[in-house]
Amino acid sequence: MLADKDRIFSNIYGLEDPFLKGAKKRGDWDGTKAILELGREEIVARVKASGLRGRGGAGFSTGMKWSFMPKEVSDRPHYLVINADEGEPGTCKDREIMRHDPHNLIEGALIASFAMGANAAYCYVRGEFFRETEALQRAVDEAYAAGLIGDSACKSGFKFDFYIHRGMGSYVCGEETALIESLEGKKGQPRLKPPFPANVGLYGAPTTVNNVESLAVAPEILRRGPEWFAGFGRPNNTGTKLFLISGHVNQPCLVEEEMSIPLKELIEKHAGGVRGGWDNLKGVIPGGASVPVLPKHLCEDVLMDFDSLREQQSGLGTAAVMVMDQSTDIVRAITRLSAFYKHESCGQCTPCREGTGWMWRMMKKMSAGKAQPGEIDMLEEVTRQIEGHTICALGDAAAWPIQGLIRHFRPELEKRIAEVKSGNSQAA
Ligand code: SF4
Repeated sequence: MLADKDRIFSNIYGLEDPFLKGAKKRGDWDGTKAILELGREEIVARVKASGLRGRGGAGFSTGMKWSFMPKEVSDRPHYLVINADEGEPGTCKDREIMRHDPHNLIEGALIASFAMGANAAYCYVRGEFFRETEALQRAVDEAYAAGLIGDSACKSGFKFDFYIHRGMGSYVCGEETALIESLEGKKGQPRLKPPFPANVGLYGAPTTVNNVESLAVAPEILRRGPEWFAGFGRPNNTGTKLFLISGHVNQPCLVEEEMSIPLKELIEKHAGGVRGGWDNLKGVIPGGASVPVLPKHLCEDVLMDFDSLREQQSGLGTAAVMVMDQSTDIVRAITRLSAFYKHESCGQCTPCREGTGWMWRMMKKMSAGKAQPGEIDMLEEVTRQIEGHTICALGDAAAWPIQGLIRHFRPELEKRIAEVKSGNSQAA
């Protein structure tokens, strides 16, 4: 179990003062000026060396992403955009950072902005996060008042402004280019890439979009050194990570743990185990609604990291672990997710716009056992036609849960269809 001294988010449960006095006591803003004095390239090199991979879901190297920004600032300013949209079902980590450890984020944003030559950061907060926005704004105000950010952030001579923008609750605005569009006051629809935001981002200027957690861990990595962070987890899957465990467990919780902790250990040690015991487990969605479900036998040994979960044809995503026990109607559960993706599709691309609706209708038929046996293969084929054929990852996100269902729970689908056919069904 991760020792308390190695936790980056030491106030994630809000037991202490979240604001400046408390934050300083916990070590935030300690030596920030010295970190900035390392210089842009050294900061990027150290973040790269730590092995930090983006905590928003895609898992791309954060240091690498920072290095994609132009080295010199030309007539177009550089921007950092903070993705605090957190709309992935099951995910509730960034909101806790904003509520209880907001200075981690502000300090991280300053360091990242400095490393990329950006004098301004825009934090796009999910609209429903009202209290979180209030807490973050209060922390921003006190950081300005204390000279930690502003005209000469931490007396470094570097000008840095932090703006908060509230979204309106659209899931797809968590996609970085849709978020940028929304921030510009337009309809929140993903852009075709290329050009990538590092070339043409917010207001047409070079921009990097980072997740809240990715930024909030940066100051501590630089204070304690990249080797410290890289010492947790496995190669290519390093560091500490916020895990969220919900569903059929005895104590749903959010916890910071070492990357690559076994899923079973995470559930048993931190969430009080599966309701009714481990053998009552049916399946786990390990990384937010978009990643394929894992059946119990695969949950025995899988590690909670990018590579181990990918090997099992699932993903770490946002590390939002949703546990389902034997009482779960897994077909209905996935059908509910299909309804979500249909609702959130922005409608720009045909495979997603038409496909999410089609899949949802087919899933409703599957739930009711009223589909034909051959339609299971047809549904699987349609998910393959959507996956990888859309502008943004929402198409993949809609397809993957269904693929996971068919891969691991096909007998359940077939049984339901057979029961309805024989008139011996309890399906609705
Ligand atoms: Fe919009 Fe869906 Fe296309 Fe993404 S995949 S751009 S949500 S239609």
